[in-house]
Amino acid sequence: MPADYHMHTPLCRHASGTAAEYVAAARVAGLAEIGFSDHSPMPSYYDDWRMLAEELPLYFDWIAEARAAAGDMPVRMALEVDWLEGGEAWTEELAGRASWDYLIGSVHYIGAWNFDNPADKQKFSDFGTEEAWDRYWALFAQAARSRMFDIMAHPDLIKKFGHRPAGDLRRWYEPAVAAVAESGAAIEINTAGLFKDVAEMYPAMPFLQLAREAGVPLTINSDAHAPAEVGRSFTAAVELAKAAGYDSVLRFAGRQRTVVPLS
Ligand code: ZN
Ligand code: FE
Ligand code: FE
Ligand code: ZN
Repeated sequence: MPADYHMHTPLCRHASGTAAEYVAAARVAGLAEIGFSDHSPMPSYYDDWRMLAEELPLYFDWIAEARAAAGDMPVRMALEVDWLEGGEAWTEELAGRASWDYLIGSVHYIGAWNFDNPADKQKFSDFGTEEAWDRYWALFAQAARSRMFDIMAHPDLIKKFGHRPAGDLRRWYEPAVAAVAESGAAIEINTAGLFKDVAEMYPAMPFLQLAREAGVPLTINSDAHAPAEVGRSFTAAVELAKAAGYDSVLRFAGRQRTVVPLS
């Protein structure tokens, strides 16, 4: 099984479990390697679903605990960093705060709108689906082009609640894939989408095929917010990756990548 590089911790205030429970779940799932990538702190209080900057030492303790429980299974240390316009300086600063194995770039905000938050779902009607998609994908491409991230998270997260414009969606996918390809970043297949309203993994097959054709490397991740979610639906994700033409995934250590065949 591929490494699971997208796992959260209770420091983000909406995940549960202990470090040892995540490690045990990874063993049960047959994973050879894992990485935590909890929601990154902001320079000051921003919202109620991330660790505070002063909690970073607790995050380092969590990683140490996981490593102690993991024996010879590598446990990577990462962050899922929110892309906000003008956020480069803070991302740069965070990148220097620890010896991260990789950084995941995520778009969860369109301006002040946290579009993947069920409490803010109503705003899809205010924006209109097409406008929401335009803004989302522009930010996604911008985040990739910043070259600050090793992996771009859940590429088509904007579909989470089932809001998808009619017709061929490649008009949004193509420029986004081009930006990721140009940046050298990888993407992830994120299996969590299967368990949201949209009921399919991120990204959709046509996006994945375009990414494969453009030579964008891949990771396969669960976005676990509880131990039971570690490595969830990885067999199906590997099938999806292969169906899109992928035959390898990436591993990361110290922000250096290794290519591993998909078995
Ligand atoms: Zn989360
Ligand atoms: Fe996310
Ligand atoms: Fe996440
Ligand atoms: Zn995520």
